Amino acid sequence: MSTAVTERSKISVRDLKKSFGAHEVLKGINAEVAEGEVVCVIGPSGSGKSTFLRCLNKLEDITAGHVTVDGFDVSDPKVDINEVRRHIGMVFQHFNLFPHMSVIENIMLAPVESKKQGKAEARDSALKLLERVGLAEKADARPASLSGGQKQRVAIARALAMNPDIMLFDEATSALDPEMVGEVLQVIKDLAGEGMTMVLVTHEMGFAREVADRVLFMADGVICEQGKPEQLFGNPQQQRTQDFLSKVL
Ligand code: ADP
Ligand code: MG
Repeated sequence: MSTAVTERSKISVRDLKKSFGAHEVLKGINAEVAEGEVVCVIGPSGSGKSTFLRCLNKLEDITAGHVTVDGFDVSDPKVDINEVRRHIGMVFQHFNLFPHMSVIENIMLAPVESKKQGKAEARDSALKLLERVGLAEKADARPASLSGGQKQRVAIARALAMNPDIMLFDEATSALDPEMVGEVLQVIKDLAGEGMTMVLVTHEMGFAREVADRVLFMADGVICEQGKPEQLFGNPQQQRTQDFLSKVL
């Protein structure tokens, strides 16, 4: 906790750089996310959105700069990253559910393995989470029997099982058939309504416009522009933002 942050700042990123070999992918990112804030990250493919998200919970090693999450200095090599990750849930494009386990076992796994909960308690919590994402009746089903939208809702429930303070979503709806996007976005909207701090990389511009408190437009490894959704979508200032939005809106 060597970096001082304001109490309400859940995520603080200072001059974050990330290279893969000689390829500098993040070229100095500065960002703050306040408690309860919903931040959507948009931008062209290859601009570094996923890498940025992955640096927040150290799925990628940080090349330079400072990242503080929930009071932990993630950029400190000595940080207990498993402890940090207990505060951050992450949902990916591909759900990565364990196929040989039932839905409820998938959700119970982390709380039980981390000894955060006993089995009975973990099962109770998992059932409540399944109710919350509208899938209580699927508790004993195998992931293979679920639709893509249902799998992704299970993945969200699994991430919530550790009772995180922050949720990260990396294109959580990109792999879904169009008719299943809505049910997953609804679960995310509910979380936003409950005050969860969230950072979402998304291609769903309508969703970003509706749910985000703030939108970051990333291009070429930097945050090129940011603002409230009505500002960024309605009156973008940078040429690159205008070009991008003219292609996706
Ligand atoms: P986005 O999510 O915006 O599409 P990414 O963060 O996935 O962008 O990728 C940004 C750049 O970093 C791309 O050029 C990609 O090829 C490169 N990159 C991402 N991950 C790796 C990796 N593990 N090794 C090497 N290059 C990577
Ligand atoms: Mg990506």
